[in-house]
Amino acid sequence: MNFQTLKWMVDSLVQTFSCPECNSWVDENCVDVMWTAGQNINVDVICPHCHKHSIIRAQILALEIPIQDIKIESNTKKKILIKDSQIIELNKNLKSNNISISELFGE
Ligand SMILES: [Zn+2]
Repeated sequence: MNFQTLKWMVDSLVQTFSCPECNSWVDENCVDVMWTAGQNINVDVICPHCHKHSIIRAQILALEIPIQDIKIESNTKKKILIKDSQIIELNKNLKSNNISISELFGE
């Protein structure tokens, strides 16, 4: 699993996860990646409020979520403008990290 994927998963996790004990929201500093294997990731989330540990197992399949979000947004706003510079920047990032699109999406 590459760093961008990992970062994305941690970001998604902290946006959706709240402590089952006290319902506190967490940030990325509370997330400790235990291991990754193929498309699976196990993380230990430590609640900043009550310090309860929650072991979260996530799969890379969750990467489909932002694509769906984009579709929903395009239906409501009709148009999404993507600047050429953003696309070029993305390509640069992919090249510099020596990964392909298929790797990024775990295919
Ligand atoms: Zn808590």
